[in-house]
Order: sequence, then structure tokens, then C-alpha cells
Amino acid sequence: MTSNRSSHFRLALISMPWSIFNRPSIQLGCLKAFLEKEMRCQVDTFHPYLNIAEAVGIDAYRRISSNSWAGEALFSPLLFPPQQDKARELFSSVLSKKEQSHLHFDNLVDLIEKTCSDWINVIELNQYDLIGFSICFNQLLPSLYMAKQVKMIAEEVPIVFGGSSCTGRIGRSLLHHFPEIDYIVDGEGEKSLLSICRSLKESPQKPGRQENPAKSHESIIRTDEIVDINELPYPDYRPYFNEIAQIFSKVPIIPTLPLEFSRGCWWNKCSFCNLNLQWKKYRMKNAGRMVQETAHLVQQYKCINFTFTDNTLPLKETDDYFKIISRQQIDLNYFAEIRAIHQPERLKLYRRGGLSTVQVGIESLSNSLLQKMAKGTTVIDNIATMKLCAENGILVEGNLITEFPTTTNEEIEETLTNLEFVLPYHPLTPAAFFLGHESPIHKNYGKFGINAILVHYKTKKLFPQRYHKSLKHLVNSYRGDRTLQHRRWKPVYQKIAQWQSFHKMRKNKEKPALQYRDGGTFLIIRQEYPTGLPLQHRLKGLSRRIYIFCHTPKTMNDILINFKGLKEESLVTFITELCRKRLMFQENDRVLSLAVHHTT
Ligand code: SF4
Repeated sequence: MTSNRSSHFRLALISMPWSIFNRPSIQLGCLKAFLEKEMRCQVDTFHPYLNIAEAVGIDAYRRISSNSWAGEALFSPLLFPPQQDKARELFSSVLSKKEQSHLHFDNLVDLIEKTCSDWINVIELNQYDLIGFSICFNQLLPSLYMAKQVKMIAEEVPIVFGGSSCTGRIGRSLLHHFPEIDYIVDGEGEKSLLSICRSLKESPQKPGRQENPAKSHESIIRTDEIVDINELPYPDYRPYFNEIAQIFSKVPIIPTLPLEFSRGCWWNKCSFCNLNLQWKKYRMKNAGRMVQETAHLVQQYKCINFTFTDNTLPLKETDDYFKIISRQQIDLNYFAEIRAIHQPERLKLYRRGGLSTVQVGIESLSNSLLQKMAKGTTVIDNIATMKLCAENGILVEGNLITEFPTTTNEEIEETLTNLEFVLPYHPLTPAAFFLGHESPIHKNYGKFGINAILVHYKTKKLFPQRYHKSLKHLVNSYRGDRTLQHRRWKPVYQKIAQWQSFHKMRKNKEKPALQYRDGGTFLIIRQEYPTGLPLQHRLKGLSRRIYIFCHTPKTMNDILINFKGLKEESLVTFITELCRKRLMFQENDRVLSLAVHHTT
């Protein structure tokens, strides 16, 4: 094999499908910028998911990439040909009938194989001193497959895997099973990758890990984290823009740019969550730095749509950020993941700054389930967030975790009742519980009625049996009350389906399904139901004032103090009546008006 390596250290970083195609990889952008600042090297970043998106078609790519299993299934037969039937079965089982009619598994596998082969044949792989793969959700099998192809062409070039899907024991098991991988970056990428690059630059060596298993611990690199992430350079997305301009020259695409405010999660307690395994400490950038970074990205790439990559936005800094952004005369648009927020002023500010869609960690409409999940929120917080987002024109995309282990019949009943109160707001999506690797539930599984941790049946369809026992995965299955829970949650699935269908069928989606207009001394509430004409309710005088006062959750005591002379008994009767009509929601001592203030 002839080596074409130059005297400069050269690193190739690759992000495989099924990354969202109209976004550059923030991991690659950050690593390129950091490494080129810290050492004399050239970092080439590649986004072959663009080539795959072009080959299979944008619509097909979108459908596949939005499903956590379908994309992995398409690469399984390329890596393990005897898995083809099982992978096809999995592919069909996770897609709707309509999607299946557009997506033919065997044709897609052939097309992907050809596209990967075409892609790899034009890259001069032997010029690199190191080739890295960034692996997040849905990228494991595609990266393993491509790493194997790379090794066939450039067997002397070491390969490093890193990313959220390679953390801890998962990374170690990948290293053990796949000879193509020479190094694993366990945790934050910047400093670990820098240390690998520096050590290879000083003493280039052939990867020899397999011949010397005792050295395998040296192949797992975990260094300190960056203490102050304000010091990081801005991500460098230029190669992505060059690729997208070449590949989609006839269909101009304006990408959405990822923005990273923080690393980790300031809450970091949810019992089902394993999203923060790769971070040791929670860190965030300050608002001023974020404003400058945004301005740089807007100017450099001429894009105005952003998606925050944070697991949950840091509140105070985000307030300061949107205060500045909302004063600028630019029409920016953002997506973010947040925890429940029920301060109207805060949501109003975020909306003014351009936040248009949020994924809120709602997770449940049962208080005892929220406690088991350690969410630190209650149902009324969740409902207030849904209402106030609707009022401020922010679309809420949230999940309701179903089939949570140890769910009781009472918790199902509570969920079903509370679903009636959220009917007017944008519907949630049911997401069946899975046992996240290293999540608090995984670590204390006995407390949740789980007897044994098992390989997920979908994973078994992707990997041959020899991998089942020792290869670790982010998603696990378990033995416990799964069958019981599946049965128990059926009425909830049905009610959510009705909720979704109600919103799909509504004629005037601009108008909230439950709204009020204020007449000064009275107010009129308009309430839509799935069947029949909308109901109208008129509240006068004190009733109106109490309803407006409960715009955000208030205790009964707050109301009595605010309305001197109001008798507790009359208040209880009023609240009970409005809750019965699903116009207010009560949780113990706290009360919330549900109608959205709308002026037309
Ligand atoms: S689910 Fe969200 S809020 Fe909860 S710990 Fe995980 S990242 Fe944090």
C-alpha cells in the first residue's frame, strides 16, 4: 500500500446518515474549528448523509431519518448480509403502511451501497493520518459499515469513533467487537481528539490494537473537559456548505444551523434519561458570546433558521440572549428543547426573539408518574406551559412517555382524565418507555419492578447473535411488567389518537380551540369539541376577574387574598364548576384558567 501522507497532520471527520440532512453536523464543525486552532493540522469534514439524501430522495430521507430504527436497519445487511430478512422485517414494522409503499427496503439497501461506494472512491483516504466518525442517534451501523470500507482501502490509517453513542461501556464493547476501530473518544471530543492527533503526530504508528489486547485500554481516550466553553471557536460549517452546493446544485436548500448554548443538563435528574452520559459537568456559554456566535453564523452562511442542540436551555442566559436578539431587526427563527416554563413574560420574550417551536419535557400527565420520573414538575406546570406557549404562538412538540414500569391503574385514570383538560392544545406524541443504558432506572432497575435487563428485540434484528450478549447499546429492553403495561396503556393510546385527529380535522387552526375574548366587564369563552358546534360561556364581574387572575397557576389562598371579601365556599363552587366544564384545571390547592386570550 502506497502512503500519500504529507508532512502536515491531516484528519478526516465523517458524519454518516441519518443526520438531519438540512443541518451541518455541529460535532464536526466544532471539532474542525477547535483542532485547527490548537495545532498545525488540516481537518477535512465530510457529510456523506448528503449524498445518501440525494440518492434516495429528500422526502424518503426525511421519513427514514425521523425514525430511530429504520435507518439503522438499512445498513444492517451491508454489514451483516445474513441479517437482511430480519432487518427488512424491522424496517417494515417501524414504518406506517403509507411510508412502506414509498420505501422499498431491498432497493434502498442497493442504492445506499452504491452511493457509499461512489463516495468513498473519490476520497483520497490514504492521505490522512487519522479518520474519525462522529456517532450520535441513528448513526452506529452506517458508521461501522463505512469504517469497514475505509479500512479496506486505507488499512494503515487509524480510525477513531466518538460521540454520544460511544460513551463508557458502549464504546469499550464497540472497540472489542469491531477491529476497524482503533480508538474510542469517551466523552467530550475536543481535548481527547487533540491528544490522539498530537500523539500520532509525534509517533505515527500502525494501529496494532487487535494484536495486543493488553493495550486496548490505551485506545479509549477520555481527557478533561473544556472548563469554559465560551473559549471555544465558532463551529466551522464551510465544508458542509460546499458539499450541499455541489450535491444539491439544482434544488437550492437553505440549511438550519445548529447552535450550542450549553453542554449537559442543569437538571440532570430524570430517572429515564441517558442523554448526558458523555458530559461530566454542566457548562454553558454566556449570552453575549451566544449573540456574537449567532451574528457570525448569520453573516457567514446567510442563514436565519437555528436549532439549539441543548438538552434543555439554560434559563437566565437564554433570557439575556433573547433580550438582545429581540431588539435586533433580523427575522431569526429557532427550535429549542426546554423544561416546563410557565412564566408568560419569559415565553413572550422568547417568541419575540424568534423562538417558534419547542420540545417541552412534558413526559406525563400524572403527578405520581412525574415523581417516579423525577421530572421536578407537576401536571399543572405542564398544562400551564402548553397553554402559555399556545397563547404566545410557540408550537409545542412534546412526548407522553407510555408503558412506564410500575404504572398503576390509578395513574392511567389520572392520565385519561387530564388528557381531557389538554384537548385544546397541540397534541403530544406517545413514546413508549425504553430502558436507557446507564439511566438512573437502569442503575436501580429493581426499584422499578425490573427483574432483568435484556437486549432490545429490535437490536437483535440488526446484529447477529454473536454480538447480543456483550455489545452494549443505548436502548435496552427488560423483563418486568412490560406486557401488563402495554395492555394497561391502550386506552391512553386511543385517547391520544382522538386528540390528534381532533386537531387534524379542525377547520380554523389559527383560532385556539379554547379561547377567550375580553369585553372589559365580562369575557366570552369559545370552546371547541370534536363534535358539535363550539360552546360559548360568558363570565361577568368577579368571575371574569378571577378567571383572568388565574392566567398562571395560583393557589386558592392567592385568590382569596387578591379578592377581599370573596368567600372560600363560593370560590370552591366556582372553581369546581369551571373544572367540570374543562375551562379550568385544579391540582390540589393550585388552579389554572385554560382558555387562551385571543383578540379575534
Ligand atoms: S430528560 Fe431532559 S431535563 Fe431530564 S435529565 Fe434528561 S436532559 Fe435533563
